[in-house]
Amino acid sequence: NKRIKIKVLLEKDHSGQKATVMGWVRTKRNNKNVAFIALNDGSSITNFQIVADPNLISDDILKRATTGACLKIEGTIVASQGSGQQTELNAEHIEVLGDADPEKYPLQPKKHSLEFLREIAHLRIRTNTFGAVFRVRHALAYAVHKYFNDKGFFYIHTPIITASDAEGAGETFKVTTLDLKNPPLTERGNIDFSQDFFERETNLTVSGQLEGELAAMGLAEIYTFGPTFRAENSNTTRHLAEFWMIEPEMAFYDAEDNQNLAEDFLKYVISYALENCKEDLEFLDKRAAEEENAKKADQRSEMGLLERLRFVVENEFQRLTYTEAIEILRNSNHNKKKKFQYLVENWGVDLQSEHERYLVEKHFKKPVILTDYPKDIKAFYMRQNEDGKTVAAMDILFPGIGEIVGGSQREERLELLTSRMEEMGIPAEEMWWYLDTRRFGSTPHAGFGLGFERLVQFVTGMGNIRDVIAFPRTPGHAEF
Ligand code: ATP
Ligand code: MG
Ligand code: MG
Ligand code: MG
Repeated sequence: NKRIKIKVLLEKDHSGQKATVMGWVRTKRNNKNVAFIALNDGSSITNFQIVADPNLISDDILKRATTGACLKIEGTIVASQGSGQQTELNAEHIEVLGDADPEKYPLQPKKHSLEFLREIAHLRIRTNTFGAVFRVRHALAYAVHKYFNDKGFFYIHTPIITASDAEGAGETFKVTTLDLKNPPLTERGNIDFSQDFFERETNLTVSGQLEGELAAMGLAEIYTFGPTFRAENSNTTRHLAEFWMIEPEMAFYDAEDNQNLAEDFLKYVISYALENCKEDLEFLDKRAAEEENAKKADQRSEMGLLERLRFVVENEFQRLTYTEAIEILRNSNHNKKKKFQYLVENWGVDLQSEHERYLVEKHFKKPVILTDYPKDIKAFYMRQNEDGKTVAAMDILFPGIGEIVGGSQREERLELLTSRMEEMGIPAEEMWWYLDTRRFGSTPHAGFGLGFERLVQFVTGMGNIRDVIAFPRTPGHAEF
């Protein structure tokens, strides 16, 4: 087909040229002798104006060109008479590719709430907000690959179905070919997984890290970027049951190299979006400002969306240890709050998002890299520090988001790793393949996981993670 994208028509003046455009009607208004149709084809947030002269286009066709209908229009590009656009298309022929009954089509031109749009996730992609979000999401995904490719990292595909639970948090979705209503049983009456497809119990991956480590112990610098599944209670604005994770893993990196890479990487992908998604981000900036204005004054963030993105790119992240953070929380005037009190009296417990956000938004007012967490709240594979109490972990905390990255230097010393696994009750014989990397040619290495949706949330300013993935998976939501 000879379709020209609206984005291309907006980039330069094509006056005088014949053009065929296809897209969905956003609005139509009739002037004395002409109809104006605002058409959107997804390539840009800006609509293109179609001018339809009833002498050329039949009444029936114009009637059917209602909001949501899909049209193919052939005509000539001309300089626009009106303000707001440089050029427009004088329609010579319009074909209705798909009608949208105005009585039934839910996306009539008015402002819809995000809650309402979530109910119609199969159609919301046609709105300005979601068009912008998914174009920015695309740009960020591209920037992720570009960043690592330019640095000589290799993209590894780690398995989706696996027998391991890397995080040991027990949040896995089971995968089975057995008929669970009538499963084969062992002599002791347990489900006999030896008759299952993989001849053992398997689940959907919660992280590609362990396999990523195997790959890094041969290719040196790798990353995965794939779907990740967690059967956790995801009824928050930051958790999904299915999300995408970016996980680089690097041999020969120590904890500091890892922090440097993560900071540089985040700044790169955010700058990429700033440079390549100007129009969409300006739209989302205005949108975010409207949302802020609707909040109570003391809950508004101090910066607008674009301002915040530029700030993050231009300023060094604050680095400090977990123990230093506890000290700050202990001395903060928020300390009166019970949650803070509990934390400062209990060195060793995990920070809650309230604490993370206090550090980022109130105390430092910039992204924070928090390091050296107590070993008991972190996974078995993190490298133990000399103090015997902490591990070489890092979490990166972002304003409005809390934890965006979790990472660590990995334990490369076989003895320490196996004794830690024993302490935590992880059977070493089942992990022989993982331990082989420590048995043969072990080396310091490190890596991190970035939740892609949390990044998209940060860059687009969307408050709920359900609004940055096309078809969110949360408890009770598995259909479209
Ligand atoms: P949180 O404390 O927010 O539950 P986590 O510490 O359990 O996160 P990690 O195991 O460290 O998560 O995973 C690495 C990254 O993956 C996190 O920093 C976050 O960006 C992202 N992430 C984790 N769980 C989810 C989820 N359920 N939905 C979306 N992103 C997630
Ligand atoms: Mg979690
Ligand atoms: Mg966490
Ligand atoms: Mg984490």
